[in-house]
Amino acid sequence: MSDKDMRLIWVVPQVNSCPFDGAGVFIFLLEEMVICLMVGGGVLVKLQNYLMRGMNIMENKNSKKRILTGDRPTGKLHIGHYLGSLQNRVALQEEYDTLIIIADVQALTTNFDKPEKLKENVMNVALDNLASGLNPEKATMFVQSMIPEIAELTVYYSMLVTVNSLRHNPTVKTEMKQYGYNDISYGFLGYPVSQAADVTFCRAHLIPVGDDQLPHLELARKIVRRFNELYKPVLVEPQPLLGSVPRLVGLDGNAKMGKSLNNCIYLSDGSETVKQKLFSALTDTNRTKISIPGDPEICTVYQYQRAFNQDEAENIGQMCRAAAIGCTACKGCLYEKMESILTPIRERRAYYEARTEIVYEMLHSGNQRTRRIAAETMQDIRKAMSIDYFYNKGLMKDNNMKVKSYIGI
Ligand code: ATP
Ligand code: MG
Repeated sequence: MSDKDMRLIWVVPQVNSCPFDGAGVFIFLLEEMVICLMVGGGVLVKLQNYLMRGMNIMENKNSKKRILTGDRPTGKLHIGHYLGSLQNRVALQEEYDTLIIIADVQALTTNFDKPEKLKENVMNVALDNLASGLNPEKATMFVQSMIPEIAELTVYYSMLVTVNSLRHNPTVKTEMKQYGYNDISYGFLGYPVSQAADVTFCRAHLIPVGDDQLPHLELARKIVRRFNELYKPVLVEPQPLLGSVPRLVGLDGNAKMGKSLNNCIYLSDGSETVKQKLFSALTDTNRTKISIPGDPEICTVYQYQRAFNQDEAENIGQMCRAAAIGCTACKGCLYEKMESILTPIRERRAYYEARTEIVYEMLHSGNQRTRRIAAETMQDIRKAMSIDYFYNKGLMKDNNMKVKSYIGI
């Protein structure tokens, strides 16, 4: 039976006019037959659960391992994202069941005062993922705020994490300085906990990221171990996968190119913009004349040579040290290399920009599929924590209650 053969058409739990309390109508399509069941509340819940698990298994029928990664919709994606994470997402999308989160709730931690910007940037981030080669037929892309289970899981996890460990998180500390925060919101301090929920709610195995995310993943792994030991082993410990360049420097020489830092070459920048940005990028400031030997190690452009022009970078570095190549020639050859990578990305972006309904459909079906995955995990989580008493009749049984109906999920 293929995943197309069995489709849930309609579930109407708690039909009021039904002669049985808490009963519902359960209709589904099985190999072209419409099957309609009128069942009592408990049976309905069980059937729903089995079917949901069935659908999840069928959707992931080759038992592929799962990838979860994504971006904050705080702007367009840049070449740092490409080297840090996007390249791996695209390369592994066949081998892994690939889930891409557009982390709009996390974007609010630093943009809570301009939520109206999210809409535009959700589309930008989705377009940039597709432009980089993500296949809408293969990968699942979804929007964080559409999966309320992630918020629920964040609350449960927050009991397992100390405030001090969050205060000492190196990425949180760097970002506090970057944003000029003296004090921080509860949401900002706790965003690594929410991120732990992002990567574990779907039991992802592999997380392709840049190296700023490593402390967050370490925390996620600790939470998983703690949860599994304390309650029941229902969570998967995620492994990070660093990109070919785990942290690309910014055009201004900042240790990190970042959307919120205004020091980026965007994947969507036009050819002329890329040229202009590259040619005004920071080099070795001591090299005021072409006859003065340069030091590639303190040159931003040389870091880009290493990232985009691996074959020639070594040779160019030696020539720079020997004053045998000038900055203009060095930048010119890098520009050619970058253009060969960026041109197909720009073309794919233009294709999807002209067909945004494909993007919308991908996000819409991605949200639906992801909610099914999340609901299944949350059942196991609640059960492991023994907080499923309202759903499994536990409260009724323990208190010897005879109630007419109970609500299930
Ligand atoms: P913001 O400044 O708004 O936080 P960002 O540029 O840091 O934006 P994110 O959406 O936070 O981007 O990160 C998405 C992914 O891209 C993460 O895996 C992150 O590690 C990776 N990434 C971001 N910037 C770089 C970079 N300069 N080099 C390599 N990887 C990066
Ligand atoms: Mg970031």
